[in-house]
Amino acid sequence: MRTYSHQKHSVHPINTLLIRPADGPSQKMKFHIAQPDKSLFSTLPLIWIGTVLRFLFCICLIAAIFNPEIVFGSPKIVIIEFHGLKQGIIYKNLEQLPNFKALIYGSDGQQPFIYYPNVFTTIPAASVPTIAAMYTGVYSQRTGVVSTIWFDRTTHKVQTMISYSQQRINKLLQSNNIKTLFEYAGAAGKSSMTTMLMANNGSDWKINSGGFFWGNASALGFLKHGRFFPEKAYTDPKTVSAFLKGHVFSYHKSLAGIYHRYQTLPDIMLVQLLGTDLYSHYPDASFVETGAKMDQIQLYYTRTVLDPQIGRIIRFLKSIGQYDQTVFILLSQQGALKIRKHIPDHILTDILSPVYTLPSEKTSNREADAVIMLGACTKEVYLKNRETKNWMDPPRLLEDVQPAVDLILNNTSVRASLNTLVIRQYPGERHNGINENEQWWSMEWQPYIEGKRDGASFLRSLRPLKSMARRFELGELVVTGLNRQYTRETVPDIKLINKKGHYFERDMSKYGHHGSFYPEDLRVFFWLAGPGMGKLYKGQHIQGATQSTLDLVPMVCHLLDIPIPDGLDGTDPLKGYNNLN
Ligand SMILES: [Zn+2]
Repeated sequence: MRTYSHQKHSVHPINTLLIRPADGPSQKMKFHIAQPDKSLFSTLPLIWIGTVLRFLFCICLIAAIFNPEIVFGSPKIVIIEFHGLKQGIIYKNLEQLPNFKALIYGSDGQQPFIYYPNVFTTIPAASVPTIAAMYTGVYSQRTGVVSTIWFDRTTHKVQTMISYSQQRINKLLQSNNIKTLFEYAGAAGKSSMTTMLMANNGSDWKINSGGFFWGNASALGFLKHGRFFPEKAYTDPKTVSAFLKGHVFSYHKSLAGIYHRYQTLPDIMLVQLLGTDLYSHYPDASFVETGAKMDQIQLYYTRTVLDPQIGRIIRFLKSIGQYDQTVFILLSQQGALKIRKHIPDHILTDILSPVYTLPSEKTSNREADAVIMLGACTKEVYLKNRETKNWMDPPRLLEDVQPAVDLILNNTSVRASLNTLVIRQYPGERHNGINENEQWWSMEWQPYIEGKRDGASFLRSLRPLKSMARRFELGELVVTGLNRQYTRETVPDIKLINKKGHYFERDMSKYGHHGSFYPEDLRVFFWLAGPGMGKLYKGQHIQGATQSTLDLVPMVCHLLDIPIPDGLDGTDPLKGYNNLN
């Protein structure tokens, strides 16, 4: 852990705070720490003056150290990630959410805020890849965390990021030389703490959850609902407790512990609340029985669990006198959908196994001809070139890919749930009678299955990826997202993308899911709020322009007045903010 020291912050008696009024040009305002009246000293002998000045400097230094909100020209930022919370749930229901309302609007209803209702997450809209992308500001293709689970064509291993130590994302980011928000902040002399987050390289204080936490949460879930799945009444309240006061042995990393020791708080404080996602997968039985909508379920959770936790965070920050300096970023990294149709996850194994050798107890991944990944709204099939038997060689279009596509499309259940099927291209590597210039083809599969199904008609059915945009409300975003998802080593050859609400699933009792290419999953939000906003911006704004979760890193850098790193995929939504209506 980097030693926390005030020396890394600039300590000057006169400090600068950037004021960026929403309706006027940027201006710098200076705050002076009161200086004693110099006339008092004008009659003193010269020799004393040096001593007095040194004394004054010390006083200023001490005052500066004990008044960090004056010293540091940027606010303290609390990021609360409501994992899996759909866009609009908070905004549309503020009257039922008194603590959210107090945090956003302030006691007089006039507190400045900026709300971004059109933030879109990266593809796929699943926990592990979205957080890796959001806290680094680059697409999955660069983080290397390309999905929840994937096959690596070079190591022949199936990869997931879940592990007891929760360090796999961090290690992958390091090996790909991708930095997190917390590393950028640290390099600029700012401190940070994180609670529950798995992409936390560079954070000075890290509170992880560990097996004990999830064991307790799941055991409680089993006792209450008969399913070994984390209980909502445990997960988020315990996480907020850890954030504020620590788990048993982590008091010194919690806000209370840090404040107790340093009389100030980290510049960035992050807490990830996973409960909304868990509850959306498995809501209470009463919701399941009535077939409730996902919005109803999430509102109930927000009202009964999240809103009281916001109240606790506000009360804690007030109790140590830090609330007024704080800017909150409320956000989520994916939405959720009610499952309309469960397709048994083993269906593709059943379909392909008569013709392709699949991994089994007797067959290693390397020896197999095809590897199928666990699916959700999409399903990925990796194909080996059966001639060269090398996984890094592109499979042959007519000999390896087309037969698999034929088998898949012969299945009526798969067809009934299928929206789009995309086929991987290998520009410059494969020359099977058709030019490959892009990352993917979109296959016109409906005309194909009604036609001759020969090689020529297969090749004719492969169209530029952009032609699939019309099949999705967020067409352009989906096309870009797919193009920026995989690396060459991790890319599948066939990807099935289902209709809305149709999910490949092992557990037929699962109620909600995510990971799809539809707005319910992809559309999330940022909210900049809290009493510290008054020192930065004027007015209450709803920003209509489209943003990305990749914009979080540049946005936080802007708020902290530190340089925005070069080469990010995200852009700063606060740049040029003065032109807002
Ligand atoms: Zn989930």
